[in-house]
Amino acid sequence: MASFKTLDDVEVSGKRVLVRVDLNVPMADGQVTDATRILRILPTIGEISEKGGKVILLAHFGRPKGKINPEMSLAPVVPTLSDMIGKPVSFSTDCIGPMAEAAISAMHDGDVTLLENTRFHEGEEKNDDAFAAELAKNGDLFVSDAFSASHRAHASTEGLARHMEAVAGRTMQAELEALEAGLGDPERPVIAIVGGAKVSTKLDLLSNLVTKVDRLVIGGGMANTFLAAQGVDVGKSLCEHDLGDTAREILTKAEQENCEIILPEDVVVAGEFAANAANMNIAVTQCPADQMILDAGQATVQYIISKIETSKTLIWNGPLGAFEIEPFDVATVLVAKAAAKQTREGKLVSVGGGGDTVAALNHADASKDFTYVSTAGGAFLEWMEGKDLPGVSVLKK
Ligand code: AMP
Repeated sequence: MASFKTLDDVEVSGKRVLVRVDLNVPMADGQVTDATRILRILPTIGEISEKGGKVILLAHFGRPKGKINPEMSLAPVVPTLSDMIGKPVSFSTDCIGPMAEAAISAMHDGDVTLLENTRFHEGEEKNDDAFAAELAKNGDLFVSDAFSASHRAHASTEGLARHMEAVAGRTMQAELEALEAGLGDPERPVIAIVGGAKVSTKLDLLSNLVTKVDRLVIGGGMANTFLAAQGVDVGKSLCEHDLGDTAREILTKAEQENCEIILPEDVVVAGEFAANAANMNIAVTQCPADQMILDAGQATVQYIISKIETSKTLIWNGPLGAFEIEPFDVATVLVAKAAAKQTREGKLVSVGGGGDTVAALNHADASKDFTYVSTAGGAFLEWMEGKDLPGVSVLKK
C-alpha cells in the first residue's frame, strides 16, 4: 500500500478541487511546442471531472519573480489544454481574489478552469501563509500532481496542505511509486548508473547512492575525475583535478558500504570534441596526452551490460559519454538498449531521469521500455540524493 495519500482516499464529487499541475511547457510564438507535460496530467483531470469534481488548475510558468508579466501568462496554454482534455477550459486572470472567485463560482460539477500563473504573486515562492490561505479559499481539497515542482516549498506545492487535505494526483502517484520501486524498497541487486559532465554537480547524489545501491557505474566526463584520482593519466579529458580528495572519499565510502564501483576499463578517445572525430578504443591507462576520453569502451560496455543482466533494479542519471555527438553515443545507446530489453522481458525494474537522461534514453529509443522515465529534473535529482521533498512530505499518510 502506498505510504502517501492518493485520489483513492478522498471523495471528489461536488467538491472544488485545487489541482497543482506542471504547465511549464515549452512555448514559441504563443503556441505550445511540446505538450508532453499536458499529456501527463490528463488522467488526473479526467478522473476528477468524470467523478463530478470541479477541477481548478494551479500552475506556474517561467520566473516572473512575484510580478505580473504578460509574457508569462498561462492564457496561451488554454486552447491546447482544452483540445487535449476534450472539453472547454475557462480561465481566470488571477489565481486569488475576486477574479478567481467569480470564475470558480461559475463552474458546474465536472468543469475545468485554469487560474493564472501563481508566481505572479510574491507569496507563492515565499510560501507565505496568508497567500496560501487566499488560494485555499477557492477549494475544498488539494490534489498535487506536479512532482517536478515538489522539491520547492512553495504555497501551491506545500503551503496549501496546511489549509486542507492534500493527496497525490495520478501522475504524482505514478512518479512516487516508480521512485519507491527504485530506491525506497527495491528488489536487489540494485545497480545505479551515474554519468554526465561533472562530479561537482553530483556529489550528494554519489554519496547517497553508495549507501543505497549494490553496484554503481560512474561514467561520462565525471569518471575521468575518479580515474585521475586513482593516478590514471586522462590526457586532455574533461576532468576536475581539484576534486581528487572528494573522489577518493566517495570510493572509500563505497568500499565500507559494500558497493561495487564500476569505472571504465577501456575508453574511446579523440583529439577533439567534434562529431565523427578520428577516434580509437584503448585501455583506460593508455590515453595519449593530446587525446580526450569521450565515451566508455566496448569491454566496459559489455561488463556494465553483464552487471545489468544480474541486477533486479536499475536507476539511471546521466549519459555514459558525449552522447550528443556521434560516435560517442555508442556506450549510452548500447547500455540503454540492454536495460530496455531486460525490462521488456520482465527481469528488471528500470527508472531513469534528471537532466540530459531523458534525451539520452530517447536517443537510444529505450524510454518506452523503461519502467519509468521521470521528466522532473531537479526534483528527481533531489530524490536520488535522498533529500526530503517538501511537496511530497505533505502527502504522507
Ligand atoms: P549532465 O548534465 O551532468 O548529466 O551532463 C551531461 C553532459 O555530459 C552531456 O552533454 C555529455 O555530452 C557530457 N559528457 C558525457 N561524457 C563526457 C565526456 N567523456 N567528456 C565530455 N563531456 C561528456
